[in-house]
Amino acid sequence: MLSDLFDHNVQWAEAKRQEDPEFFNRLAALQSPEYLWIGCSDSRVPANVITGLQPGEVFVHRNVANLVHRGDLNLLSVLEFAVETLEVRHIIVCGHYGCGGIRAAMDGHRHGIIDHWLQPVRDVADRNAGRLAEIGDPEKQQDLLCELTIKAQVESLSRTPILRSAWKRGKFLSVHGWVYGLKDGLLRDLDCGCGEAHSAFPEAGDCGNA
Ligand code: ZN
Repeated sequence: MLSDLFDHNVQWAEAKRQEDPEFFNRLAALQSPEYLWIGCSDSRVPANVITGLQPGEVFVHRNVANLVHRGDLNLLSVLEFAVETLEVRHIIVCGHYGCGGIRAAMDGHRHGIIDHWLQPVRDVADRNAGRLAEIGDPEKQQDLLCELTIKAQVESLSRTPILRSAWKRGKFLSVHGWVYGLKDGLLRDLDCGCGEAHSAFPEAGDCGNA
């Protein structure tokens, strides 16, 4: 029922006010999140809920299969605003096992416009065809492709002019690749990031380890 959503909203706002009377006044005046989250649109992977972050603590961009298309004005606008105005410290690209986008990219069927969107996943699969073919179990194969795709998006993000320029100017900013397990509710760091928090800090605005 749609009316339930409004009822829950009223209860939630009231509970927040009880807990911290200044909560909404403070948030309405300013947001200063430390994190930018680039995740999948999947309803089972809500950034705030799985990380325990409150409103105001994470800036979020989501699309199917958490992809970084270099010509995506939506993502690039979010990225530039997050880096230059909000001055986030960490950018997290978070995919998840069991991703329908990854599955759709590989099932050989025609799905429509989404097939164009998912092309970067197939590119990653083509580049890693040998490694993927060695895995017999289709679920494990998809898990590996999911991880490889996240790593490729971290790489892609790190090569954008927005991040290169930020690093060149000495901004403290790191990019991370994480994967979330739908079956256990846990996040894992794929250790493929770059930036100040990683050994591969790209001094020349270049990230070579993803
Ligand atoms: Zn997904």
